[in-house]
Amino acid sequence: MRIATKIISGYAILIALMAAVLVYQVASIHHMQSINKNLSGLNFSAARTSIQLMRDRDLVEEYTKKSFIVGDPDYVEKLREFKEGFASSLQDMQYLGRSEREQVEINRLVQFWEEFSQALARELAVLTPGTMPSELDQHLERLRAQVQTVHQVSLRTIEAEVGKAADTGAKAEWISWSAAAIALVVSFLVSFFIVRSISEPLHHLTEGTRAVAEGKFYYRLDASRNDEFALLAKDFNTMTARLNELDQMKKDFVSHVSHELKGPLASMQETTHMLLEEIPGSLTEKQKRLLDLNLLSSKRLSSMLENLLDMSRLEAGVMEYELTTQELVVLIQTVVSQLEPQALEKTIRVEPDLPAKPLIVECDGDRIIQVLSNLLGNAIKFSPPGSVIKVRAFSVAALPETMPASWREKVTEDGDSAGFALVAVSDSGPGVPDAHKEKIFEKFHQVKQGKKISGQGVGLGLAICRTIMEAHRGAIWVEDNSNHGSGSVFWLLLRLGSSQEGVTHRTSSPL
Ligand code: ADP
Repeated sequence: MRIATKIISGYAILIALMAAVLVYQVASIHHMQSINKNLSGLNFSAARTSIQLMRDRDLVEEYTKKSFIVGDPDYVEKLREFKEGFASSLQDMQYLGRSEREQVEINRLVQFWEEFSQALARELAVLTPGTMPSELDQHLERLRAQVQTVHQVSLRTIEAEVGKAADTGAKAEWISWSAAAIALVVSFLVSFFIVRSISEPLHHLTEGTRAVAEGKFYYRLDASRNDEFALLAKDFNTMTARLNELDQMKKDFVSHVSHELKGPLASMQETTHMLLEEIPGSLTEKQKRLLDLNLLSSKRLSSMLENLLDMSRLEAGVMEYELTTQELVVLIQTVVSQLEPQALEKTIRVEPDLPAKPLIVECDGDRIIQVLSNLLGNAIKFSPPGSVIKVRAFSVAALPETMPASWREKVTEDGDSAGFALVAVSDSGPGVPDAHKEKIFEKFHQVKQGKKISGQGVGLGLAICRTIMEAHRGAIWVEDNSNHGSGSVFWLLLRLGSSQEGVTHRTSSPL
């Protein structure tokens, strides 16, 4: 179902529910109003009239007795007036009495009244003053009892109506509460389902975008749903597929061009060497200096091309390692002796501090030399002239405290080792700011500190070092050089290995 349809139907359910509750409440209020109107308009008037009836009956009795005992025509006249009063009240009562019980009792009263009226007319025709006919007494007594009954019945009718109003009120209250509770639960469920149906695909989309930001162009979203998110997922997948294609094209291009450039560059270097050795003929000092500069630049160009090719191999996951037992101190000495002339050119002293005891590690010697050359090369590049670069190596039983947590997990992944070999390259250059300490090990990341330092490459060296150290189950990280005011210390960690014979092959995972 489409998101818009889901939201509209969800809210339509809620609105229908609210409307039903509202209609019910209005109907209840209307019902209670009619009960109240009944109570105040008819029932109370019936009660009032029944009291009036009792008063009229008392007067009729009083003047009947006076008429018969005294025999005065004035009393007889008054009696007629009171009789008319009673008859009129009785007529009102007939109209006001609503309940069945009231009607029955009022009809009986009407019957008793007619019988009394007939008996009175008979007796008045033969009136002899001084005597009260006993038949009239009996009629009056019956009338008194019946008027009382009518009064009681109209009171009970009021009570019943009040009870009915209270019942309807209570029922309306209960239904209102229940409807409100149901509406609350339904609105919670509807909101929950609407939010879930939006937040879930949104979460996947966020994950996908993050993956693309990390360069994982192979990431695909589930596009099997039947809503707007599925359309978005389809477009996202098309976009990542296209990005993947472009990325692959870029990798192929870089790898191809680097390869093609290597040949001509090697022959240019060879030619320069031949010229410097003065094979074709002797050179002036100025010409030699210019050729030296030419050779230096072509070496830098060739190291950049090597880095680009290494990167292509790492990205394709085809970098192979030949792990053999190596003496780490020997590898360090090789690198120091290779780069010392470069340091001396900048009047920088490289001070090795290496243990007499051999540090046996299982590694690909060439690759570890590559890492060490990169670190020492960077230290020379970034150190000021006249400074000292220290290269220390030693063994430790446990992982150093200062090692970043991200490396700790990788190093301890496949169980305990016989200890670790640590190499530290310390310089007194500008150092690496905290915000860049992890990032400089990512591809093409460089710290911008004023103008570019001569010899600074394209930011691939440390990314390659990191991948090589990962393949060795080792670690590489940078800290501030606390022994010196400024500068940095690049640390290398390798597992100390048993000096077993043979070669292990390993490939690093694709970048
Ligand atoms: P490149 O040196 O070719 O730029 P790297 O990957 O070797 O590439 O280094 C990445 C960045 O890390 C450098 O550009 C520099 O900003 C920083 N960096 C590396 N080594 C040092 C160092 N010893 N002192 C200060 N900054 C360094």
